[in-house]
Amino acid sequence: MPSQASDKNAPPPLPEPLLVSVADSHTHLDMQSGTVEEALVKAASVGVTTVVQVGCDVNGSRWAAETAAAYDSVHAAVALHPNEAPRIVHGDPDGWSRQGAREPGGDTALDEALAEIDRLAALPHVKGVGETGLDYFRTGPEGKAAQERSFRAHVEIAKRHGKALVIHDRDAHADVLRILKEEGAPERTVFHCYSGDAAMAEVCARAGYFMSFAGNVTFKNAQPLRDALAVAPLGLVLVETDAPFLTPAPYRGRPNAPYLVPVTVRAMAAVKGVEEDVLAAALAENTARAFDY
Ligand SMILES: [Zn+2]
Ligand SMILES: [Zn+2]
Repeated sequence: MPSQASDKNAPPPLPEPLLVSVADSHTHLDMQSGTVEEALVKAASVGVTTVVQVGCDVNGSRWAAETAAAYDSVHAAVALHPNEAPRIVHGDPDGWSRQGAREPGGDTALDEALAEIDRLAALPHVKGVGETGLDYFRTGPEGKAAQERSFRAHVEIAKRHGKALVIHDRDAHADVLRILKEEGAPERTVFHCYSGDAAMAEVCARAGYFMSFAGNVTFKNAQPLRDALAVAPLGLVLVETDAPFLTPAPYRGRPNAPYLVPVTVRAMAAVKGVEEDVLAAALAENTARAFDY
Protein backbone atom coordinates (compact mmCIF):
# COMPACT_ATOMS: atom_id res chain seq x y z
CA MET A 1 0.00 0.00 0.00
CA PRO A 2 1.45 3.42 -0.89
CA SER A 3 1.85 5.65 2.14
CA GLN A 4 0.67 9.27 2.18
CA ALA A 5 4.12 10.58 2.99
CA SER A 6 5.68 9.03 -0.07
CA ASP A 7 2.94 10.16 -2.45
CA LYS A 8 4.53 12.79 -4.69
CA ASN A 9 1.08 13.86 -5.92
CA ALA A 10 -0.48 14.41 -2.49
CA PRO A 11 -1.32 18.00 -1.57
CA PRO A 12 1.31 19.43 0.81
CA PRO A 13 0.21 19.85 4.46
CA LEU A 14 -1.29 23.09 5.81
CA PRO A 15 1.47 25.48 6.87
CA GLU A 16 1.37 27.36 10.18
CA PRO A 17 -1.09 30.25 9.77
CA LEU A 18 0.21 33.76 9.14
CA LEU A 19 -0.77 36.14 11.95
CA VAL A 20 -1.17 39.00 9.47
CA SER A 21 -3.38 38.16 6.48
CA VAL A 22 -2.09 38.47 2.93
CA ALA A 23 -3.32 38.08 -0.64
CA ASP A 24 -2.27 35.56 -3.25
CA SER A 25 -1.74 38.13 -6.01
CA HIS A 26 -1.91 35.61 -8.88
CA THR A 27 -3.63 32.26 -9.00
CA HIS A 28 -5.52 30.00 -11.41
CA LEU A 29 -8.30 28.38 -9.33
CA ASP A 30 -9.84 26.98 -12.52
CA MET A 31 -6.76 24.78 -13.05
CA GLN A 32 -6.70 23.41 -9.48
CA SER A 33 -8.54 20.42 -8.05
CA GLY A 34 -11.48 20.90 -5.68
CA THR A 35 -14.07 23.67 -5.60
CA VAL A 36 -13.45 27.42 -5.39
CA GLU A 37 -15.16 27.39 -2.00
CA GLU A 38 -12.78 24.71 -0.67
CA ALA A 39 -9.70 26.56 -1.95
CA LEU A 40 -10.82 29.85 -0.38
CA VAL A 41 -11.68 28.29 2.99
CA LYS A 42 -8.39 26.40 3.14
CA ALA A 43 -6.41 29.53 2.20
CA ALA A 44 -8.25 31.73 4.71
CA SER A 45 -7.53 29.19 7.47
CA VAL A 46 -3.81 30.03 7.18
CA GLY A 47 -4.22 33.79 6.67
CA VAL A 48 -4.50 33.99 2.88
CA THR A 49 -7.79 35.87 2.80
CA THR A 50 -7.74 37.37 -0.70
CA VAL A 51 -6.86 35.98 -4.13
CA VAL A 52 -6.49 37.47 -7.58
CA GLN A 53 -7.93 34.99 -10.09
CA VAL A 54 -6.22 35.34 -13.46
CA GLY A 55 -7.83 34.47 -16.80
CA CYS A 56 -5.63 33.29 -19.67
CA ASP A 57 -8.11 33.10 -22.55
CA VAL A 58 -11.60 34.40 -23.34
CA ASN A 59 -13.45 31.63 -21.46
CA GLY A 60 -11.05 31.73 -18.52
CA SER A 61 -11.39 35.51 -18.31
CA ARG A 62 -15.19 35.30 -18.30
CA TRP A 63 -14.94 32.69 -15.53
CA ALA A 64 -12.55 34.90 -13.53
CA ALA A 65 -14.96 37.85 -13.76
CA GLU A 66 -17.93 35.68 -12.70
CA THR A 67 -16.02 34.14 -9.80
CA ALA A 68 -14.91 37.57 -8.56
CA ALA A 69 -18.51 38.74 -8.70
CA ALA A 70 -19.60 35.72 -6.64
CA TYR A 71 -16.95 35.89 -3.86
CA ASP A 72 -15.88 39.00 -1.90
CA SER A 73 -12.40 37.56 -1.37
CA VAL A 74 -11.74 37.06 -5.11
CA HIS A 75 -10.65 39.76 -7.55
CA ALA A 76 -10.26 39.11 -11.25
CA ALA A 77 -7.69 39.84 -13.93
CA VAL A 78 -8.62 39.22 -17.56
CA ALA A 79 -6.47 38.68 -20.64
CA LEU A 80 -5.25 36.55 -23.47
CA HIS A 81 -2.06 34.89 -22.22
CA PRO A 82 1.05 35.68 -24.32
CA ASN A 83 0.99 32.07 -25.56
CA GLU A 84 -2.74 32.26 -26.32
CA ALA A 85 -2.58 35.20 -28.76
CA PRO A 86 -0.44 33.35 -31.35
CA ARG A 87 -2.76 30.32 -31.13
CA ILE A 88 -5.75 32.50 -32.00
CA VAL A 89 -3.96 33.99 -35.00
CA HIS A 90 -2.10 30.94 -36.33
CA GLY A 91 -4.33 28.11 -35.12
CA ASP A 92 -3.69 25.42 -32.54
CA PRO A 93 -3.96 21.94 -34.07
CA ASP A 94 -2.73 20.35 -30.83
CA GLY A 95 -5.44 22.06 -28.79
CA TRP A 96 -2.90 23.00 -26.12
CA SER A 97 -5.11 25.76 -24.73
CA ARG A 98 -8.26 24.99 -22.76
CA GLN A 99 -10.30 26.19 -25.71
CA GLY A 100 -9.13 23.16 -27.63
CA ALA A 101 -7.94 22.63 -31.17
CA ARG A 102 -8.77 25.42 -33.58
CA GLU A 103 -8.23 26.74 -37.09
CA PRO A 104 -6.08 29.78 -37.78
CA GLY A 105 -8.25 32.85 -37.14
CA GLY A 106 -5.85 35.57 -38.26
CA ASP A 107 -5.78 39.11 -36.91
CA THR A 108 -9.58 39.36 -37.11
CA ALA A 109 -10.02 36.58 -34.56
CA LEU A 110 -7.44 38.23 -32.30
CA ASP A 111 -9.30 41.56 -32.57
CA GLU A 112 -12.57 39.85 -31.64
CA ALA A 113 -10.99 38.16 -28.61
CA LEU A 114 -9.41 41.47 -27.54
CA ALA A 115 -12.80 43.18 -27.82
CA GLU A 116 -14.21 40.66 -25.34
CA ILE A 117 -11.28 41.25 -22.96
CA ASP A 118 -11.96 44.99 -23.29
CA ARG A 119 -15.62 44.45 -22.38
CA LEU A 120 -14.70 42.31 -19.34
CA ALA A 121 -12.04 44.82 -18.21
CA ALA A 122 -14.78 47.40 -17.64
CA LEU A 123 -16.53 45.23 -15.00
CA PRO A 124 -16.20 46.42 -11.38
CA HIS A 125 -14.89 43.10 -9.99
CA VAL A 126 -12.16 43.00 -12.62
CA LYS A 127 -9.18 44.75 -11.06
CA GLY A 128 -6.46 43.80 -13.52
CA VAL A 129 -5.68 43.30 -17.19
CA GLY A 130 -3.33 40.36 -17.62
CA GLU A 131 -1.58 38.13 -17.69
CA THR A 132 -0.15 39.64 -20.82
CA GLY A 133 3.38 40.29 -22.01
CA LEU A 134 5.91 38.20 -23.87
CA ASP A 135 6.91 34.54 -23.59
CA TYR A 136 9.88 33.57 -25.74
CA PHE A 137 10.17 30.21 -23.98
CA ARG A 138 6.97 28.63 -25.30
CA THR A 139 6.25 30.79 -28.32
CA GLY A 140 8.67 30.62 -31.24
CA PRO A 141 9.63 33.41 -33.67
CA GLU A 142 6.53 32.78 -35.84
CA GLY A 143 4.28 33.80 -32.96
CA LYS A 144 6.21 36.91 -31.96
CA ALA A 145 4.24 39.47 -33.97
CA ALA A 146 0.85 38.25 -32.66
CA GLN A 147 2.21 38.20 -29.13
CA GLU A 148 3.51 41.74 -29.33
CA ARG A 149 0.34 43.09 -30.94
CA SER A 150 -1.73 41.47 -28.18
CA PHE A 151 0.58 42.84 -25.45
CA ARG A 152 0.35 46.40 -26.78
CA ALA A 153 -3.45 46.13 -26.99
CA HIS A 154 -3.66 44.93 -23.36
CA VAL A 155 -1.53 47.89 -22.19
CA GLU A 156 -3.98 50.22 -23.91
CA ILE A 157 -7.01 48.43 -22.41
CA ALA A 158 -5.55 48.59 -18.88
CA LYS A 159 -4.86 52.30 -19.18
CA ARG A 160 -8.26 53.16 -20.65
CA HIS A 161 -10.10 51.34 -17.84
CA GLY A 162 -7.69 52.42 -15.08
CA LYS A 163 -6.91 48.80 -14.13
CA ALA A 164 -3.63 47.21 -13.03
CA LEU A 165 -1.52 45.66 -15.79
CA VAL A 166 -0.32 42.12 -14.98
CA ILE A 167 2.84 41.20 -16.88
CA HIS A 168 3.95 37.68 -17.83
CA ASP A 169 7.61 37.93 -18.86
CA ARG A 170 9.39 34.72 -19.71
CA ASP A 171 12.86 35.04 -21.24
CA ALA A 172 11.83 38.42 -22.66
CA HIS A 173 12.94 41.02 -20.07
CA ALA A 174 14.44 43.61 -22.43
CA ASP A 175 11.56 43.57 -24.91
CA VAL A 176 8.91 43.72 -22.15
CA LEU A 177 10.61 46.74 -20.56
CA ARG A 178 11.04 48.40 -23.97
CA ILE A 179 7.41 47.95 -25.01
CA LEU A 180 6.16 49.22 -21.65
CA LYS A 181 8.27 52.33 -22.17
CA GLU A 182 7.09 52.79 -25.76
CA GLU A 183 3.41 52.38 -24.89
CA GLY A 184 3.64 54.19 -21.57
CA ALA A 185 3.01 51.82 -18.66
CA PRO A 186 -0.25 52.09 -16.73
CA GLU A 187 -0.09 53.75 -13.32
CA ARG A 188 -0.11 50.31 -11.66
CA THR A 189 1.96 47.57 -13.33
CA VAL A 190 2.74 44.18 -11.76
CA PHE A 191 5.47 41.80 -12.94
CA HIS A 192 3.86 38.48 -12.03
CA CYS A 193 6.21 35.59 -11.17
CA TYR A 194 9.06 38.09 -11.24
CA SER A 195 12.00 36.42 -12.95
CA GLY A 196 14.57 39.17 -13.49
CA ASP A 197 17.85 39.67 -11.67
CA ALA A 198 18.84 42.36 -9.16
CA ALA A 199 19.79 44.86 -11.87
CA MET A 200 16.35 44.54 -13.46
CA ALA A 201 14.71 44.87 -10.02
CA GLU A 202 16.41 48.26 -9.74
CA VAL A 203 15.01 49.27 -13.14
CA CYS A 204 11.52 48.14 -12.07
CA ALA A 205 11.86 49.98 -8.75
CA ARG A 206 12.76 53.23 -10.52
CA ALA A 207 9.71 52.82 -12.78
CA GLY A 208 7.46 52.02 -9.79
CA TYR A 209 6.57 48.55 -11.08
CA PHE A 210 5.39 45.99 -8.54
CA MET A 211 7.34 42.72 -8.40
CA SER A 212 5.34 39.63 -7.43
CA PHE A 213 7.39 36.67 -6.18
CA ALA A 214 6.19 33.08 -6.59
CA GLY A 215 7.24 29.75 -5.04
CA ASN A 216 10.29 29.51 -7.29
CA VAL A 217 12.02 32.10 -5.08
CA THR A 218 12.48 29.15 -2.65
CA PHE A 219 14.20 26.91 -5.20
CA LYS A 220 17.80 25.96 -4.51
CA ASN A 221 19.02 27.28 -7.89
CA ALA A 222 17.16 30.61 -7.56
CA GLN A 223 19.84 32.75 -5.91
CA PRO A 224 19.58 35.47 -8.62
CA LEU A 225 15.86 35.73 -7.80
CA ARG A 226 16.61 36.07 -4.09
CA ASP A 227 19.20 38.74 -4.93
CA ALA A 228 16.48 40.58 -6.85
CA LEU A 229 14.08 40.29 -3.91
CA ALA A 230 16.80 41.59 -1.59
CA VAL A 231 17.10 44.86 -3.54
CA ALA A 232 13.38 45.28 -4.38
CA PRO A 233 11.82 48.03 -2.20
CA LEU A 234 9.48 46.60 0.47
CA GLY A 235 6.71 48.84 -0.86
CA LEU A 236 6.75 47.21 -4.32
CA VAL A 237 6.87 43.51 -3.39
CA LEU A 238 3.91 41.11 -3.75
CA VAL A 239 3.56 37.35 -3.21
CA GLU A 240 1.71 34.85 -5.38
CA THR A 241 1.35 31.13 -6.00
CA ASP A 242 0.68 31.04 -9.76
CA ALA A 243 -1.00 27.80 -8.62
CA PRO A 244 -1.21 25.02 -9.69
CA PHE A 245 2.36 25.77 -10.87
CA LEU A 246 5.58 26.60 -9.00
CA THR A 247 4.94 24.86 -5.66
CA PRO A 248 7.47 26.17 -3.11
CA ALA A 249 10.22 24.03 -1.61
CA PRO A 250 10.18 21.52 0.04
CA TYR A 251 7.01 20.55 -1.86
CA ARG A 252 8.30 21.16 -5.38
CA GLY A 253 6.45 19.01 -7.93
CA ARG A 254 3.33 18.58 -5.78
CA PRO A 255 0.11 20.51 -6.52
CA ASN A 256 0.21 24.18 -5.57
CA ALA A 257 -2.73 26.17 -4.17
CA PRO A 258 -3.27 29.53 -2.43
CA TYR A 259 -3.02 27.97 1.06
CA LEU A 260 0.72 27.48 0.45
CA VAL A 261 1.45 31.24 0.31
CA PRO A 262 2.77 31.24 3.92
CA VAL A 263 5.63 28.93 2.87
CA THR A 264 6.81 31.48 0.31
CA VAL A 265 6.21 34.44 2.64
CA ARG A 266 8.50 32.87 5.27
CA ALA A 267 11.26 32.29 2.73
CA MET A 268 10.88 35.89 1.52
CA ALA A 269 11.05 37.28 5.06
CA ALA A 270 14.37 35.46 5.55
CA VAL A 271 15.74 36.97 2.32
CA LYS A 272 14.57 40.48 3.25
CA GLY A 273 15.75 40.10 6.85
CA VAL A 274 12.42 41.34 8.23
CA GLU A 275 9.90 39.83 10.64
CA GLU A 276 7.27 37.64 9.02
CA ASP A 277 4.46 39.91 10.31
CA VAL A 278 6.15 43.05 9.00
CA LEU A 279 6.54 41.52 5.54
CA ALA A 280 2.97 40.17 5.57
CA ALA A 281 1.58 43.61 6.43
CA ALA A 282 3.56 45.15 3.56
CA LEU A 283 2.45 42.44 1.12
CA ALA A 284 -1.22 42.92 2.06
CA GLU A 285 -0.99 46.68 1.68
CA ASN A 286 0.96 46.52 -1.58
CA THR A 287 -1.47 44.07 -3.22
CA ALA A 288 -4.46 46.22 -2.28
CA ARG A 289 -2.68 49.28 -3.71
CA ALA A 290 -1.58 47.47 -6.88
CA PHE A 291 -5.07 46.22 -7.70
CA ASP A 292 -6.93 49.17 -6.11
CA TYR A 293 -9.38 47.15 -3.99
ZN1 LIG B 1 2.45 33.74 -16.21
ZN1 LIG C 1 -0.34 32.71 -14.30
